[in-house]
Formats: sequence, structure tokens, C-alpha cells
Amino acid sequence: MRKLLKNIDLLATFGSAGEIRDGAILIEDNVITHVGRTQELEDFEADEVIDLSGRVALPGFVNTHHHFYQTLFRNVKEVQSVKLFDWLVHLYNRWKHIDEAAVASSTKVAIYEMMKTGVTTTTDMFYLFPHGKDELFDVEIEAAVETGVRFHPTRGSMSLSKKNGGLPPDEVVEPDERILRESERVVKRYHDPKKYSMLRIALAPCSPFSVTPQLMRDTLELANQYDVLLHTHLAETRDEEKFCLEKFGKSPVDYMEELGWLNPSVWFAHLVWLNEEDIRKLAKNDVGMAHCPVSNMRLGSGIAPVYEMKKRIRIGLAVDGSASNDTNNMLAEIRTAMLLQRVKYGADAMTPREALEMATLGGAKVLRMDDYIGKIEEGYAADVVAFKLDTLEMAGCLDDPLAAIVMCDAKSADFVMINGVVKIENGEFVDVDLRELISKQNDISKSILQKL
Ligand SMILES: [Zn+2]
Repeated sequence: MRKLLKNIDLLATFGSAGEIRDGAILIEDNVITHVGRTQELEDFEADEVIDLSGRVALPGFVNTHHHFYQTLFRNVKEVQSVKLFDWLVHLYNRWKHIDEAAVASSTKVAIYEMMKTGVTTTTDMFYLFPHGKDELFDVEIEAAVETGVRFHPTRGSMSLSKKNGGLPPDEVVEPDERILRESERVVKRYHDPKKYSMLRIALAPCSPFSVTPQLMRDTLELANQYDVLLHTHLAETRDEEKFCLEKFGKSPVDYMEELGWLNPSVWFAHLVWLNEEDIRKLAKNDVGMAHCPVSNMRLGSGIAPVYEMKKRIRIGLAVDGSASNDTNNMLAEIRTAMLLQRVKYGADAMTPREALEMATLGGAKVLRMDDYIGKIEEGYAADVVAFKLDTLEMAGCLDDPLAAIVMCDAKSADFVMINGVVKIENGEFVDVDLRELISKQNDISKSILQKL
């Protein structure tokens, strides 16, 4: 099936064609076959022609860190204004009540809200298996596949409970042996390494303060065996740095180096508290980064030194879990990433184009999918989003329509195509009714928060 997207006021490819006025994209099934001006492509026969006049189009956004289940725990009153460790200790006791219905609902809510803000590929770190409910990871995958998003989840884990010097309570940690067995099972069952893959798996011990050093080493070995990526939280807060120094006698980055976790298969979430030597080590070992500015601001964690790292390591953007954001709004994340760097480093610290590139190609590089997503280019997957230019917030901003998405706060995507399939057209989801999902999500959230 051949589709033609045409009359795009401005097409920003983030690829070799640069930015094209009156652009068009020709798509065969799920793959882009031609990119050019409308007049060059409109003579091709197409089964479906979509007119995107009055819009700016670009590659779909890639979200590089998340915890979908937390959409059930947004804005919990008791922890609206506390720092990470206190926030975690309070929420672990709510999180332990999640079940299949909670995971299915929260997964869809997170993905649809992201999609509305232009996300076409996302990861998720799912690390919560209360009382051995390992099948919750399978439930998440099933729900995500139904939404049509390109998905790269990570099988997370927690093995170091409070009684052994960690932070989480006993009910939500698993024995190392079971974590490894389950990690292997889900990689074998779901991981599709092929180009244009819609589903890949990575492995993700949760953080230095919730897993044992041995599990970090064993997970690394397993990931190498199956050639999958590795992910964890790192250097998020001052408290974490203190924990690592006290428990391991090393800073978070040095601790990862000791475990063999500074390598090109790894991407870390946060990386806020780093010194120049840490940055040098991360760069030398080609480690990736998921930058989560809203979460870092919300928890008062700090400002990641992205300005000092942006030309040296692969950086993607991420909304992080919705209990510390509390939205799944990628557009807000992009704008905040740009503004937050300016607070620390000055007005030229990050341009709107740099922020958009981090959200597209940058994220694709972090997830090692940049051979088929992150650009609008021949041979790339047809993941395309477009924003309307005749809205109230865009009025008066047309001097630079691409930057307007960031500078003038575009509220939501008008058009979203994932792997050649249209998910949002004229601002509306084409194949899902969200009302039932929203009401179910609120019922589940309410019932869990009432349990103690
Ligand atoms: Zn996180």
C-alpha cells in the first residue's frame, strides 16, 4: 500500500534532505521511499493521499525513559512536594498493590498521552513485580502492542530490600535468580532485533540503591549473551551519590565502571550529578543518556549538565514516570529541556532545533534504532508527526514554523503516523475511544490509593 503525505508547509527531516518547504513524503507500507517537494512527488500513484497543508512535519518523538504504571499515582497529595528518596519510600507501599488490570490501563494511558504529544517510539522501565507477579511484564507488552506504538521496554528489577540495606520494602523485591530467569524468558519470547522492529527488549536493574552488585554483573552478562541493551537510573540525586559513597566507597559513575556497566550497550536515566571526569568516562565508553528535565525539577533533583555533554555523548529526552512529572507530555519535556539549560548556562545553551533533535534522532541513537527511526529519509520507518500552524498558540510565530513547536508551546500533535499507520488525524485518535479507558484508570487509581 502506497501513501503520499503532501503540501507540508515545512518538512524537517533531521536527515540529509534538511528542511523542505512544501514538502512531501512517499511511503510504501511501513517504509519511506521518497522525500522531496510536493511537485516532485505528486505524480507518483498512491493508494491514499493525505494533505498536510498548514502544518509542519518532522520525525516522531522518541521517549527514552518511563514507568507507565505510575500514571495511576500522579499527583499523590502526600508526596507532591518531597525529594526522591522520601517520595519513593512513601510510594513503594502504594505501588505494591498493582495488578494486571492496573498495568494494562496505566500502560495505555501513558502511551496515548505521549502519542498525543508526538511520541511514536517509547521505552518503559517496568521493575515492579509484587509478590512474584512476573506476568505483569507480559501484560504491559500486550497493552502497548494494542496501541500501535513502537515499543522498546526494559525488564526492570529490584533485589535489594530494606532489610539488606536497600530502599524498597520486601514485598516488591525479587530474588536475583528469578530476575535472571525471567529476564531471559522475556528476551527470548519478545525481542525482535530486525530492522523496522516494533518490539525490542532491554534489561534494567532499577538503581544502585535497589539491586545488588552481583545482579548488575549477572544482568550485564545476560545482556551480552543475547545482544540486548542495558538501562538503569544513575546519578539522579545527591542522596544517591551519598548512598554509593557510603555503601560502595565510590561515586555512582565509578561504581558503574567497576561493574563493567560503562559500555556502548548502556543508557542511563538522569545523570544529574556528574563531574568532568565522570563525563569524560561516559563519553569515552559511548554511554547513552535519557535526560528527564521535568522530573528533575519536580523532585528538586538538580540540573543535568547537558550543555557540557551534548556534543560528547548520545542524549535523548524522556518524560520519566508519571508520579514524578506528572504528565506524559513530550512537548513540555522538549521545551523544558531547552529552557532549563538556559537557566544554568545562558540564552544560547540549547536552541529549539537542538531540543527537537534530541527528542527525535537523539532518542533513536540512545535506543540504538537510528538506522531506521529518528529521521525522515528514504529507507527509514514511516514514523511522522505534524503540528498545525493556524492555532491560537502559533498565531504570530510563522517566521520559523519548526522552532515554533518549542518556542510557542504547541499543545498537541495534529497528525501522528507510526510504522505507516495513521494513529491521529486532524487532532483526533482514529481508532480508539479514550473515555472508557480514562474512567477505568480513575477507578483503579482510587481503589489502590485507598489500600494501605
Ligand atoms: Zn525513572
